Amino acid sequence: MSEAKETIVDCQPDCGACCIAITISSAIPGMPHGKLAGEHCVQLDTSRRCQLFGSPERPQVCEQFKPRVELCTHGPLHAMRELEALERLTAPAVKHVDSSVLHANAIELLTTD
Ligand code: SF4
Ligand code: SF4
Repeated sequence: MSEAKETIVDCQPDCGACCIAITISSAIPGMPHGKLAGEHCVQLDTSRRCQLFGSPERPQVCEQFKPRVELCTHGPLHAMRELEALERLTAPAVKHVDSSVLHANAIELLTTD
């Protein structure tokens, strides 16, 4: 098993940080142009869970984003701060690329010492 796989955990309850903090440039049901950083995804329910989990309508980029020990196990405030910092770091480089690149950058940064 790779080191990256060993750090994947379950999504934590009452978080939703990655569904708020990150820019998503691909279409989301109810948000045809995606969403901006800091904007709540309309698919986030009142328990801060994705209403599209397991649905083919869930954006690919969301499917690819895996909860990780480093990001997800220190509470939603920690996750939000980490993701906001990553968003700021990567924003200039991702203006013209798909948000899957941003997610890939985030995962790489979060798993690099
Ligand atoms: S940041 Fe992690 S724990 Fe929080 S909603 Fe996203 S995947 Fe789940
Ligand atoms: S579609 Fe689901 S996983 Fe993707 S940002 Fe929205 S609530 Fe989060």
